[in-house]
Amino acid sequence: MNKPITLAKLNHWIDGATAEPSDAIYLDNVNPMTGGPGPSVAAGSRADVDAAVAAAKRSADGWRRFNAAERGRLMMGLAAKMRENRETLAEMERADTGKPMPMAYAEVDGSIAYFEFYGSLVYLPKGDVLDVAPDQHVFTKREPYGIVGVITPWNLPLNQAARAIAPALVAGNVIVAKPSEITSQTTIEMARLATEVGFPNGVINIVLGTGKEVGEAIVRNPDVRKVAFTGSVGVGRAIGHIAADRIIPLTLELGGKSANIVFDDADIDTAATEAVKGFTLNAGQVCSAGTRVLVQRSVYDVFLEKMKSAVQAIVPGENLGPIITPAQFQRVQSFFKVAEGDGARLVHGGAAAEGDGFYIQPTVYADVSNDMRIAQEEIFGPVGVVIPFDTEEDAIRIANDSDYGLIGTVWSQNISRALRVADRIDAGQIFVNVWNTMSVQTPFGGYKNSGYGREKGIEAIHHYSHLKTVTVKI
Ligand code: NAD
Repeated sequence: MNKPITLAKLNHWIDGATAEPSDAIYLDNVNPMTGGPGPSVAAGSRADVDAAVAAAKRSADGWRRFNAAERGRLMMGLAAKMRENRETLAEMERADTGKPMPMAYAEVDGSIAYFEFYGSLVYLPKGDVLDVAPDQHVFTKREPYGIVGVITPWNLPLNQAARAIAPALVAGNVIVAKPSEITSQTTIEMARLATEVGFPNGVINIVLGTGKEVGEAIVRNPDVRKVAFTGSVGVGRAIGHIAADRIIPLTLELGGKSANIVFDDADIDTAATEAVKGFTLNAGQVCSAGTRVLVQRSVYDVFLEKMKSAVQAIVPGENLGPIITPAQFQRVQSFFKVAEGDGARLVHGGAAAEGDGFYIQPTVYADVSNDMRIAQEEIFGPVGVVIPFDTEEDAIRIANDSDYGLIGTVWSQNISRALRVADRIDAGQIFVNVWNTMSVQTPFGGYKNSGYGREKGIEAIHHYSHLKTVTVKI
């Protein structure tokens, strides 16, 4: 059995074993809860990526031809092993990100669900028979790309790694993944557990390090035939250029500035509480956060009052985690000056919390106009902006006046109106009278700058396979 990893010094996971960085260099992290030191992480290089790709290549053919039932058993076995290690995984996630334990547990549970869900889909038919001509037998079949590169950010690290790795494996691919250098622990631990339950060596490889060194080397490696990227628009675009040159497919899960639309016939109490949850969950460090709260003018004042009391129940260090790094912490605070300069009305928060660590008070701005920077740019902190509107048309126009299009939420008891609005919002996922983006079965992804391709659901498997047509003269 492999030795458990230490929290102090993290190495790569290549070919079913721990591997030190070839340059023997490590990156130091900061603990966001205290501002003190965090774990140090292998600073991988192109040589390390090449080693991981070579291991993946050796295992690719065997994994592709692996018996479906056995593959399913391994997926379920990993899910069970992760459940056995639920507490350790949650503690690791908390150690890296500072998120409160209930959030860390929710993330671990969601990550386990990917292996169970995709593990249950191993028998999914992989093609069709087409009635082309009486003397021809024509069929289609799905084939894996081979080596899939997975690059993930720091906000929900285990969830994002599992979200891409599980469907890619079930489609018959092998993996070279790179978590964020800030939050590498749980991805490494997941790979270690996979080896422990019997995944063949080389099927899941994790290379740690920076985006510039390791991420780019994965995307440029000629044997990597598909990349699933979750992260910022800027890096997504840069990777897109490389993928275009190499003519390889890409899934891009990028940012958001999602609209949460509250009509005057909504259940205002629920909508106000959920709206606050929508931009404070994970301290607002969620791509699908509902950061623009659009409220019909006739209920605007009463809604703001209810939001204010809901936001007062969110306490930094208790049910609100820290911002991930000193740089992000400064960046979030810089938006407070921008908001003030632009004339937004501060309702609550608007400053860092007192004490150690990188905590920000949950913040609400009212009387925001949609052209202000706080309404257009992804802040990635616990900050909601409230924008008044008059008519249904106004709400739709404001919601769509954004470079992003990840999700949208509509609150109204008038289901015809809710469906009309849902139909016209340019976003990959719409919620009506509920806000919950964690389900495994629902395809997830963006319109516009929020990206392309879909993760989650049966849909995702199709993003990890080619379709081949075979025509036979009979
Ligand atoms: P980021 O783009 O800076 O980094 C994401 C990953 O890409 C990291 O692993 C990083 O090391 C790597 N990377 C950086 N530069 C690279 C390069 N040149 N080549 C290859 N890889 C590179 O994003 P972040 O700051 O870690 O995460 C926050 C962003 O992620 C936000 O914009 C957020 O909206 C987005 N996000 C999107 C989703 C989604 O599913 N749509 C989910 C979570 C986060």
